[in-house]
Amino acid sequence: MSELKLCQGTKCHTHRTKDRIKGQKGDKTYQTRRRSTFYYGGGNFCSLWCQNEWFNEFGDKAIDHFGRLTEPKHLTEDNAWYKDYDWDSNYETRSYTYRNQLTNEQRPLTEEQFNDNNYTLNTV
Ligand SMILES: [Zn+2]
Repeated sequence: MSELKLCQGTKCHTHRTKDRIKGQKGDKTYQTRRRSTFYYGGGNFCSLWCQNEWFNEFGDKAIDHFGRLTEPKHLTEDNAWYKDYDWDSNYETRSYTYRNQLTNEQRPLTEEQFNDNNYTLNTV
């Protein structure tokens, strides 16, 4: 069994659910949830509730730390490529393409290129 992770929610231990009650009889406390996997916030939170509480407390600092947008981003022809695929008429074979969201240009793509997260035609 993999190591258990703790929910990073700042108030996880204050949510009164039965599964959070731990400890010996007479010495029970509500505790932060501990699981092998979580499904929220990149695997860091047990629920959207906990994720939102974390963000409400630390979100501004995190955005400032990693870089707050000060100007709008622009989608241009150079960075408007996205990967897509179509099924053949029997729904047996997929054909892969790169499509440009602005120009509607299409370029063929191999399955290997489609699955390669580092492969891109975008330049910006
Ligand atoms: Zn939690």
